[in-house]
Amino acid sequence: MKTIGVLGGMSAVSTQIYYSTLCQLVRDELGGLHSPELLIRSLDFAPIEALQMSGDWEEAGRVLNTHAKTLEQAGAGVILLATNTMHKVADEMMNGVRIPLLHIAETTAEAIRSADLERPGLMATAFTMEQSFYTDRLRSAGLEAIIPEAEDRHETHQIIYDELCHGLVTRESENTYVRIADRLVNRGADCLILGCTEIGMLLNTDNVTVPVFDTTRIHCEAAMRWSLG
Ligand code: GLU
Repeated sequence: MKTIGVLGGMSAVSTQIYYSTLCQLVRDELGGLHSPELLIRSLDFAPIEALQMSGDWEEAGRVLNTHAKTLEQAGAGVILLATNTMHKVADEMMNGVRIPLLHIAETTAEAIRSADLERPGLMATAFTMEQSFYTDRLRSAGLEAIIPEAEDRHETHQIIYDELCHGLVTRESENTYVRIADRLVNRGADCLILGCTEIGMLLNTDNVTVPVFDTTRIHCEAAMRWSLG
């Protein structure tokens, strides 16, 4: 089994989901007492979020680059950046790093293409929905993402930062998310990307009417295949 390097803490809540998902996937695959070979570098999210808000993506890229190198030096064979948003600085993060990155948007796009779908609704942070670094990746895989209207984008973003990243799950926010997902389906989405690693806390196949692609799960599955492959 090869060692997966998880660069997480963005948020810590989602890194816990990565850890439990990776453990469950390896247990299901190998049985017995098997568990994944992992190195987890979990960062303090507060300063990272401050860099996001001030738009200092250069510094954010430098910080992630330092820690990607730490994972490489510690023996990881691949980097799993456990957040969609911070893939904005994936190139800067991987500068001088020789091990590969398992890109969350690419693994998700592959899963959608394999299901013969092509118009995913995208719910994520405002950065991921509104800037081109993520939707361009989807487009180059042949997928045309549909993003929520302005007010829905605002609500989606606020719930991520004010609740989900704090580990808070409420029925009210679940209902809000279900309504936003429904509006994307009404506008022609043939599936839904949970394009933020915490959104699976509120949405899943039980409350969404189209196929759901949870980036956290897809990312973990790709990492497990790499590790056991
Ligand atoms: N985990 C989130 C994501 O997948 C949001 C937090 C962050 O900005 O990293 O985008």
